[in-house]
Amino acid sequence: MKETYPMLSVEEARRRILEHFHPLEPERIPIIEALGRVLAEDVTAEMDIPPLPNTAMDGYAIRIADTADASPERPARLKVVADLAAGYVLEDPIQPGTAVRIMTGAPIPPGAEAVAPFENVETHGDEILIFKPYALWKNIRHAGEDVKAGQVVLRKGVVLRPQEIGMLAALGHPTALVHRRPRVAVLSTGDEVIDVTAPWQPGKIRDANSYTVSALILKYDGIPVRLGIAPDTIEALTAKIREALAQGADLILTSGGVSMGDFDEVKKVLAAEGEMHFWRARMKPGKPLAFGEIQGVPLLGLPGNPVSSTISFELFARPAILTMLGKTKLIKPAIDAILVDPIKRKDNRRHYVRVWLEEKDGQTYAHLTGDQGSGILLSMVQADGLAIVPEDLNSTPSNFPIKVMILDWPEVA
Ligand code: AMP
Ligand code: MG
Repeated sequence: MKETYPMLSVEEARRRILEHFHPLEPERIPIIEALGRVLAEDVTAEMDIPPLPNTAMDGYAIRIADTADASPERPARLKVVADLAAGYVLEDPIQPGTAVRIMTGAPIPPGAEAVAPFENVETHGDEILIFKPYALWKNIRHAGEDVKAGQVVLRKGVVLRPQEIGMLAALGHPTALVHRRPRVAVLSTGDEVIDVTAPWQPGKIRDANSYTVSALILKYDGIPVRLGIAPDTIEALTAKIREALAQGADLILTSGGVSMGDFDEVKKVLAAEGEMHFWRARMKPGKPLAFGEIQGVPLLGLPGNPVSSTISFELFARPAILTMLGKTKLIKPAIDAILVDPIKRKDNRRHYVRVWLEEKDGQTYAHLTGDQGSGILLSMVQADGLAIVPEDLNSTPSNFPIKVMILDWPEVA
């Protein structure tokens, strides 16, 4: 008797999968390694930034009363009494009628109230002429004008971008507490599947999936734990899955063996070793999907066809990995485009059609990357994105407006 599995929408399958994931425990790491990671604590400033009032310009620190009557005809004449570079402080207050030569970033000497930039001043030996009155605090950056001591500067849950890494450094934090990266076990299945390093023999094909999937795990900041290839025997599969557990996997990804073929043993092993659900997702490519838990570790059984496994990874494994990292923006952004080529459809599944993109006259055009078969690796190699043809459309005409999920959207954030 032919088994049938419930057919779920992509959203429903994703919802059921994501229920089993949560952010992993935090670890403290050097900030230079924390790009793209999610902060697991609030970060509060212990001191003001900038710590002291300082000059925003190269020029002369002055008292404003000395310039009150200054004009081009009757300039103020001040004596330059000191020279101050950034990185040093003057302790003595500046006296009436004097100025301090000062470089951008240097702390304002006590008593100074403004900075006259070089370009507005005439120098005569150790004297300067100033031709206009200066307002209080002109060209001075105040202590704490950026960040005030006690302020919560970065909130728990924020994704660390370069600017947040710099902020942590400015605040005096050499390390950050972030959610740890998930260890994701990767297993290919199939008697026909051999590793890239093995000599080819008739009947065999090279394992593309475990490499694509490992690279995707790395791309989304997980740690791949490569388990190699299991032939379609219950013993081999069981051994590999136990190895994944022994290696401390947070998620196990298999490919192949989840459809209706004679040797689709993954299903049997999963059902025997843990609690497994088998679904069909209303999508093309990538209909068969297994999801469940083995000894508390989630396992996602991706389809064997390389395009199907890649797209299923993007739709289901990626958000699981992001959730474990503490991220909350889980869905890949899609852009508006015009699908140039018509699509003939035969069923009511959502099609993820591989497209390359072209910008013309301020409009994005999507073109099919040739043969769309679920085993056609080149259709992914040539793709910039996946055009999403909704399930309720039976076909689309030429030049149809469509959403395109961009494959290589910048992943930090
Ligand atoms: P299955 O779901 O195991 O029936 O596999 C579906 C198709 O994908 C078959 O043609 C397999 O040979 C192929 N396939 C399975 N695993 C891989 C893999 N790791 N790399 C490339 N192709 C694969
Ligand atoms: Mg197989």
